[in-house]
Amino acid sequence: MNHERSRELYGRALSVLAGGVNSSVRATKPYPFFIERGDGAHVIDADGNKYLDYVMGYGPLLYGHDLPEPVAAAIQSHAADGPMYGAPTEIEVELAEFVARHVPSVEMLRFVNSGTEATVSAVRLARGHTGRDKIVVMQGGYHGAQESTLVEGDANNPQPSTAGIPEEFAQHTLPIPFNDPDAAQAVFEEHGDDIAAVLTEPILGNMGIVMPVDGFHETLRELCDDHGSLLIFDEVITGFRVGGLQCAQGKFGITPDLTTFGKIVGGGFPVGAIGGRAELIEQFAPSGDVFQSGTFSGHPVTMAAGLANLEYAAENDVYDHVNSLGEQLRSGLRDILADQAPEYTVVGTDSMFKVIFTRDGATDRGSQCGAGCQQDPDCQHYDHCPKTGADVADADTERWERLFWQAMKDQGVFLTANQYESQFISYAHTEADIEETLAAYAEAL
Ligand code: PLP
Repeated sequence: MNHERSRELYGRALSVLAGGVNSSVRATKPYPFFIERGDGAHVIDADGNKYLDYVMGYGPLLYGHDLPEPVAAAIQSHAADGPMYGAPTEIEVELAEFVARHVPSVEMLRFVNSGTEATVSAVRLARGHTGRDKIVVMQGGYHGAQESTLVEGDANNPQPSTAGIPEEFAQHTLPIPFNDPDAAQAVFEEHGDDIAAVLTEPILGNMGIVMPVDGFHETLRELCDDHGSLLIFDEVITGFRVGGLQCAQGKFGITPDLTTFGKIVGGGFPVGAIGGRAELIEQFAPSGDVFQSGTFSGHPVTMAAGLANLEYAAENDVYDHVNSLGEQLRSGLRDILADQAPEYTVVGTDSMFKVIFTRDGATDRGSQCGAGCQQDPDCQHYDHCPKTGADVADADTERWERLFWQAMKDQGVFLTANQYESQFISYAHTEADIEETLAAYAEAL
């Protein structure tokens, strides 16, 4: 493949954008390919190369790059009316009503502009509501580029995970292993009176897709109830992707106090949202005393895109289609790995998937351990499935990122370059695309 134009653009970008990009994950090696346009399930780069796309904007694009006609029409009509006003519009009320109607825990919301903003506001709301400072997070979880959650280590020794965050800030964040009820119990025993909230993705989506084991969310729910802390589900990835319109909380039958959204709820435009019980959400100013604000929040074009997106999903076979392709792909991948790389692991659910380059012998995990096993204690492979961030932390990231990702790209398949970030299937993908993808995996492996 020729990438001359991308190389040239990257050269220009390097002199005006830090690292040549606007989000660190896009800085793929040796240089990113620049996208010119999308076409259904494909993207076309600046040199005219075409790739089957499983990045899907890192999750927001439920329909791929060709929007259904009503979605495109809603966007165009709101954009044509002037982009935004700094005053309320009907469309934001309609999207809020739609979300509140479908997502079990949500009675009221506030829209913001990114998943990061949503988790920042949710944490502030939890602290304001409880008058407490500490939040519990999961090791390997991700909640955006914010001070309270860019923390690593464990509950006894939390440390900022990036330069630029004061150590004192990190002391308020208590990381515990996902799927470890004893660790959750212990952190509440020690800090229970100071914990404002437990903040977790219902499925870890930035650590290779780690499913919750049976009972873990229930334990968190109980501990929060017993100690007067809030349970916050970060559904920025899983919202309106896993569990259909009810999201992951509907799939697992757990009702968090607060939920954060992003990605799909904005239909491909910048978005975030914090939802929950009315008495909690009403603590945002001006009805309450927790400050929250945003010039672009509830942007009419975003709201129109989000609403048309979700209404289309409610009226068509969107989730059936993407989830069944997800099953086809994961099952095909399991067969390929069993044959070619039995030490590797297929993970995922609904329309999310990933192959993790787990190492032979180090974990005794096999390709048989897909998402079903992670969920089913009766499965013969259950003990060997990844259940915590640490279980997948030893993966061969170098091999994935330097060799495998490139080999897939060379065959015209665009995957997330990071070993741990999920991939996504859209309504534009077809069974034939999945077969083509499986052949590319077999070849690249
Ligand atoms: N929460 C989760 C679970 C995410 O995966 C992300 C981003 O990928 C965020 C929050 C942050 O969202 P954004 O990048 O829109 O700020």
